[in-house]
Amino acid sequence: ASERLYLGMDFGTSGARYALIDKQGRIHAEGKREYPNYMKEDSLDWALSWKTTLFSLLEDVPVHLRPLVASISLDGTSATTLIIDSKTGEPLAIPYLYNESCPDALPLVKSIAPMNHTVCSGSSTLCKLVSWWNNDDSDKKSTMLLHQADWLLWLLHGQLGVSDYNNALKVGYDPEADSYPDWLLSQPYAQLLPMVKAPGTSIGHLKGDIRTQFGFSEDCIVCTGTTDSIAAFLAARATKPGKAVTSLGSTLAIKLLSTTRIEDARYGVYSHRLDDKWLVGGASNTGGAVLKENFSDEQLEKLSEHINPMEASPLDYYPLKSVGERFPVANPKMEPRLHPRPESDVEYLHGILESIARIEAKAYMLLKDLGATQVDEVFTAGGGAKNDKWTKIRERVLGLPVSRATQTEAAYGAALLALKGCQ
Ligand code: ADP
Repeated sequence: ASERLYLGMDFGTSGARYALIDKQGRIHAEGKREYPNYMKEDSLDWALSWKTTLFSLLEDVPVHLRPLVASISLDGTSATTLIIDSKTGEPLAIPYLYNESCPDALPLVKSIAPMNHTVCSGSSTLCKLVSWWNNDDSDKKSTMLLHQADWLLWLLHGQLGVSDYNNALKVGYDPEADSYPDWLLSQPYAQLLPMVKAPGTSIGHLKGDIRTQFGFSEDCIVCTGTTDSIAAFLAARATKPGKAVTSLGSTLAIKLLSTTRIEDARYGVYSHRLDDKWLVGGASNTGGAVLKENFSDEQLEKLSEHINPMEASPLDYYPLKSVGERFPVANPKMEPRLHPRPESDVEYLHGILESIARIEAKAYMLLKDLGATQVDEVFTAGGGAKNDKWTKIRERVLGLPVSRATQTEAAYGAALLALKGCQ
């Protein structure tokens, strides 16, 4: 028999990608699509746009490889929410996007949820649900809430009302108890909540019409997904406790696999469940955005060549694009600190890179102090990952092996979930 393949798709903020891998993790095909703009009344019809993109990606999978696909999974942006008709699966309103805020629902949500719970933010899925519940006066008998990933997966498997515990975290699901909490179940809108499974669980077969239209195999299954940032972590294959991924993009985000769950609202630190482990995360406002303000990518490369990474820079900065920091220092009034600026740009850049590395070290230290498994190896993703001098600086400052993650695409992580669902 021919080798089986696993298809993962990522529905990110700016576009969608797919990756097709084998059991060893080798990529057999990959591709990317922008979201087309469709209008409904006066707003963008995101649901139609995602749906069209989903089928475009399936079309992009090379025809000769489609029969080899054993399973499919996908990720969506966290807290992107659809209210749908539970009989037809059709959206009843324009989807709520991940970053959309529903402050009108906050007082009510805060009055029912435990203090500092992740749902107590205007952009949480629960605030979106409550806002819709309170403002829409249609008949709500046959309605259901789905996350973006759940809805797109439903288009493939056809069983309405299935989610995963990563996507469901921001609607209030308790991943530790593996159930919705009583304070949520006692609400009138609890009937809209989907059932929840572990990410990468087989839901059922790919729908027959899609299978025959595209030429997928009869035994191709569809598995529960996850959120985009978790899928990106999964891509790095940091599967043991103590392994971490630092993402050096516009901001600095760290994610650490831990045997213990930690939460601290002051620092915006929270944990996602991954089977029997916890994915602990925090995000600092420092990062590449400050580099970008001062240097072009070409300058960054040229100047970095002249940095001696074995030598500690004495410059002590706190690079921020604007006032305020949350993690690893919770201080909304913290001022950016980028002075004194030496005459040499090489020294200046060295100081910034070194200072960001110190903040990264402090971040991992804080997670340990809060009770997480101690980090023992760091993989790097994002624009800063390609800077080898910075990697060396970080190795020295963190006192740990640091390397570039081989895979960083969320679509690759989603493909690994598809693989998991077959095992
Ligand atoms: P995001 O997706 O968060 O916007 P990316 O992961 O694309 O960010 O990374 C972009 C960032 O990487 C920019 O802020 C840029 O300054 C930084 N960057 C690009 N090249 C380098 C380099 N050689 N060294 C360090 N940082 C770099």
